[in-house]
Amino acid sequence: MGKSAKDTSKTWGKRTKSVHAGTRRSQYGEVSEAVFLTQGFVYPSAEAAQARFEALGEDEFIYARYGNPTVRMFEDRMADLLGYEDAFACTSGMAAVSGALTALLKAGDHVVSSRALFGSCLYVLEDILARFGVEITLVDGRDNAEWDAAIRKDTTLVFLESISNPTLEVVDLRHVCDVAHKNGALVVVDDAMATPVYSYAAECGADIAVVSTTKHVDGQGRMLGGLIAGSRDLVRGPIESYMKHTGGAMNPFTAWTHLKALETIVLRVGQQAATALAITESLDGHPKLSAVRYPTHSAHPQCELARTQAETGGTVLALEVKGGKEACFKFLNALELFTISNNFADAKSIVTHPATTTHQRLPEDQKDTLGITGGLVRLSAGLEDAEDLIADLKAALDAI
Ligand SMILES: *Cc1c(COP(=O)(O)O)cnc(C)c1O
Repeated sequence: MGKSAKDTSKTWGKRTKSVHAGTRRSQYGEVSEAVFLTQGFVYPSAEAAQARFEALGEDEFIYARYGNPTVRMFEDRMADLLGYEDAFACTSGMAAVSGALTALLKAGDHVVSSRALFGSCLYVLEDILARFGVEITLVDGRDNAEWDAAIRKDTTLVFLESISNPTLEVVDLRHVCDVAHKNGALVVVDDAMATPVYSYAAECGADIAVVSTTKHVDGQGRMLGGLIAGSRDLVRGPIESYMKHTGGAMNPFTAWTHLKALETIVLRVGQQAATALAITESLDGHPKLSAVRYPTHSAHPQCELARTQAETGGTVLALEVKGGKEACFKFLNALELFTISNNFADAKSIVTHPATTTHQRLPEDQKDTLGITGGLVRLSAGLEDAEDLIADLKAALDAI
């Protein structure tokens, strides 16, 4: 394989990075990235096999569970886009979250996390890690004083979603990183909602960003994937060791579809974020809604903070329909363009009712604490014309 563009790519803009960073060409000089659908690799001699098992060179591979050229291209491109030294690609966002946490924690460690988390992340912390003797303290991620009080000298790791799913709460990431680092703790950010284009995790000092690439990277509702990004020492140290021995490595075909999808991610996500904002502006103050929330819009209680951390508030907004679940279901069922589903960041606009689907499992009191009410709707803005989406939403609100 030819030399990668890695050395010059750090100074490129996001659009250039998302098209070129990490590209490695084979001896055939293909224009489009090659997909290497191979589990194993051939060694020219027994001595070469021994040498490769002793130390892997830059363009050397052993077995696809450890690494693969197509997957490596994707890892390098994502690391550059997110602003980290290196990355390990995983089978799904949850493989990335659980892999990063398990690789970095041991019995007796103390973790502080924001309470407003994706359901499966909460399960990993409260049901799995707690079972292995990790102490978990949950805080209101919006409240810096709660973080200050919870992070201790013996805290090993801090976990949070930079923008929470589905309530769109914003964490003051610079502050939390500062407090964590003063106490010697690592910060792991679940960066799914912030999007790889507008991620500010690296800039604010997070040690690790975990990303569900199922969302904005795929962007077209096809593949499950995930990624752990961070310093080379962490990624090629404890994280790679854990991932390669436990079997969570990304499949080369997924990495290839993701590489092709990255070529358009800046255009797609930029358009979707603009549409999300346009929907927010047109629904703000609607008589059938008690709230419309989009992180960087002035109606969001934390918009000043959100604006200091990111260029946009992402591709997702939240609505609070007056009249609870009953009114909300009438609204959902009257939509014609929006699809009722539970993913987000797809080219197709999606509506989700978290209380009865993604967050159904949570006890009622926890739903109340998190603001997951019967009237809450999560909207994912797709690539359709904003005017058509707004007309669909307004007609469905009229139908309540
Ligand atoms: C979707 C999501 C995940 C899980 O990702 P999968 O690719 O579905 O495994 C984790 N965290 C957040 C915030 C998500 O939105």
